[in-house]
Amino acid sequence: MRSDDTPLIRLEDYRPSDWLIDTVDLDISLHPTKTRIRSQLALRPNPAGRPGAPLVLDGDELKLVAIRLDGLLIDEAAYSVTPQQLTLHAPPTRRFTLMIDTEVDPSANTKLMGLYLSSHVYCTQCEADGFRRISYFLDRPDVMSVYTVRLEARKLIAPVLLSNGNRVAAGELPGGERHFAIWHDPHPKPAYLFALVGGALDHVRQSYVTAEGRSVELAVYVEPGKADRAGWAMDCLVRCMRWDERVFGRNYDLDVFNIVAVSDFNMGAMENKGLNIFNDKYVLADPQTATDGDYASIEAIIAHEYFHNWTGNRITCRDWFQLCLKEGLTVFRDQEFSADERSRPVKRIADVRTLRTTQFSEDAGPLAHPVRPRAYKEINNFYTPTVYEKGAEVIRMLKLLVGEAAFRAGMDLYFERCDGTAATIEDFLGCFAETSGHDLTHFARWYEQAGTPTIVASGRYDAAARSYTLDLAQKTAPTPGQPEKQPVVLPVALGLVGGSGDLPLATTSEAYAGNGIVIFDQPSLSVTFTDVAEPPIPSLLRGFSAPVRLELDLDEAALLRLFSADSDPFNRWQAWQTVAMRALVEAGRDPGRLDALVTTGQALATGLRGFLTTQAPSDPAFAAQVLRLPALGDVAREIGRDVDPDAIQAAHRRLSTEIGHRLGPDLLDLRERLASAARYSPDAASAGRRALRNELLGLIALSAPDSGAQLAEAQFAAGDNLTDRLAALAAMTLIPGEAREALIARFAKTYAAEPLVLDKWLMAQALIPESGTLDRVRSLMQHPAFSLTNPNRVRALIGGFAANLTQFNRTDGEGYAFLAEIVIALDRTNPQVASRLLASFKSWRMLEPRRKALAETKLGMVANTPNLSRDVADIAERTLA
Ligand SMILES: [Zn+2]
Repeated sequence: MRSDDTPLIRLEDYRPSDWLIDTVDLDISLHPTKTRIRSQLALRPNPAGRPGAPLVLDGDELKLVAIRLDGLLIDEAAYSVTPQQLTLHAPPTRRFTLMIDTEVDPSANTKLMGLYLSSHVYCTQCEADGFRRISYFLDRPDVMSVYTVRLEARKLIAPVLLSNGNRVAAGELPGGERHFAIWHDPHPKPAYLFALVGGALDHVRQSYVTAEGRSVELAVYVEPGKADRAGWAMDCLVRCMRWDERVFGRNYDLDVFNIVAVSDFNMGAMENKGLNIFNDKYVLADPQTATDGDYASIEAIIAHEYFHNWTGNRITCRDWFQLCLKEGLTVFRDQEFSADERSRPVKRIADVRTLRTTQFSEDAGPLAHPVRPRAYKEINNFYTPTVYEKGAEVIRMLKLLVGEAAFRAGMDLYFERCDGTAATIEDFLGCFAETSGHDLTHFARWYEQAGTPTIVASGRYDAAARSYTLDLAQKTAPTPGQPEKQPVVLPVALGLVGGSGDLPLATTSEAYAGNGIVIFDQPSLSVTFTDVAEPPIPSLLRGFSAPVRLELDLDEAALLRLFSADSDPFNRWQAWQTVAMRALVEAGRDPGRLDALVTTGQALATGLRGFLTTQAPSDPAFAAQVLRLPALGDVAREIGRDVDPDAIQAAHRRLSTEIGHRLGPDLLDLRERLASAARYSPDAASAGRRALRNELLGLIALSAPDSGAQLAEAQFAAGDNLTDRLAALAAMTLIPGEAREALIARFAKTYAAEPLVLDKWLMAQALIPESGTLDRVRSLMQHPAFSLTNPNRVRALIGGFAANLTQFNRTDGEGYAFLAEIVIALDRTNPQVASRLLASFKSWRMLEPRRKALAETKLGMVANTPNLSRDVADIAERTLA
């Protein structure tokens, strides 16, 4: 279907369903090519709907086998059916039951939406609209029903049969070859939370008693032979369940909680009620096959999906425009959990890095959209960093604005008032307005207005009056469909840093909310602080209190002073990044200024020398974040126009090399001191030490390639864990030559039987910033480790290449041609993965004219391809608009 023919779905057109479904009884007989589904729906007219309206059920590539109304066959004239829709023209205007038989072919389902087979395991993915690929249904989140599911399959093929809720019966069928299980979920839910799993799986199990005293059997199911890698996921699950009881007062509400890992999955994981289905990448972990980063992601994603049980499942979304209601809130909850389990400042820094790289770049390009979009053609294209990460930032600001106590009371009220309903952002915000007494009308603009605001700040010290005045102005650049922007509510956490730490804050300004927070909600604002004994350095946006860009004219000396003296760890890191960013932007804009980086490198190295010897050993995770320079893509976005990726890459390399040269032996010493003889442990402290050691290795590889290569080889050989071995490989990719190729080959041999590890190997090669990389990627597509049908493999190799700033944006346009070719090929089998790859073009407009023209041509080629999926057509159209 071409996107032009696709209707635009608008928030303002929402109206309640004409029909409701109280109960759904599913009887599913699993078969690899002919799975039969009998669905019995208890329907009734919705009092809020249109009386006498026809019943229109959604379908997608469905085949109707039979239909009965209250047990009787229906006259053919009474309904019409296509693969996309089943309509009863004049249904009874009372309660009735509809029995629908359909048949689907799970083995042919390459879209991985609906019911499909992943490595011989039957599984489902129904969000956002996959259920309609299983049976005709009112497939919308505000139709919530109680499900009973009977599953039947060959015992040999699918000894494990799982669905939502609690298992109420199971047994063998006559003949002994087939068996069944019946599951009942007492909690009403929308169809997108339906799930089933059938297959031969191993598992680990653990009992859990909730704070309310309910006994719950927890289980994590994995491919046979991999149960010993499920322990960490189980450990995370238990910890996050306790945390949600303690911090949000939320208890689990079924007798079982099951997690299943599958190898073919379009997303990270899915929060189906009582039966979370995961991409195996986010479940399986042991020291040999998972990095510290994987351990942390597993912890975050297990928690995220579990937390959805209350924020998403018990309270769901009225319509898909409210997606951020469950996603932004749940990301906020998982970020808070990880912050409590690990170092809060380091977690915040890592989250802000992700926000800037993924969301700020989305806001700066043609795909920018509000946290709550107002219209869409394909909802699958709105599972974006804006909905997730910026959505979480909005919750974080809300908490700052109303204060800790009113925030918790507002959450309690929300859980109480909206439980069992399909809610809206207005329902949610209303709870906080009530508990805090704040009018949140202006704050709600965060949900409606796209784009990253910029705060321009400057300060003046008046020695005679002993006062300091801070002038703030805010502006937001136009985004597609929103040429005019209004000011938003910005909580600005701040401090004034004097010679011996923070100065006391005294002001009569009404904008000052206390606790070091200024509420900035106008186009501009001046706040005067009194009794300021000395000229201070302002430390603004502490903890990154609002998701904005900040322009503050502090000189390098003041920034380096903040780096050493600010009481806010986030802003210490930020001050450092700002010094590096300015230099990178200058040299990235004008390659003639490359030599100026020598001076910056010198200043940074001087600042680092003291830091590395005195403070880094006691907080290595923080030090690792300091050592890592701003990402290339972030530098590109700061430059904003006529971007030359090669110049940015050269600047980045030059600055790293300068710092590395200046510190020379200090880097080696510190790396030596951080070495640990202890056995691998994934805890945050040990992970922090490894992170710093490996950052140091990267700097050495750039500034002293010979010793870098030796160290990398030795680290690979001695490594007892994947974190160190992968870091060795990454460092080696920076050093062209035979040693690199040898280590790449050795890595592949060592991990030949580990597809998830080979994904990292594919990605490390796809990211090499050299002109030979495209050929390398093309030949890796022929490697047995690669498969175009597995989303993880595609994201690693092709997604990795698309994230390679210099090689994707090659001056000959071959990077664009390659990606366009893959997108078109992949669109025939898996449109969701294809459209996400195509979104890699989102920053094309900021490029210099030659690259921009080449990118536009290739995007046009994709857009004009016949028979594109709605997913890809929508991204192509919006990216070019
Ligand atoms: Zn989620």
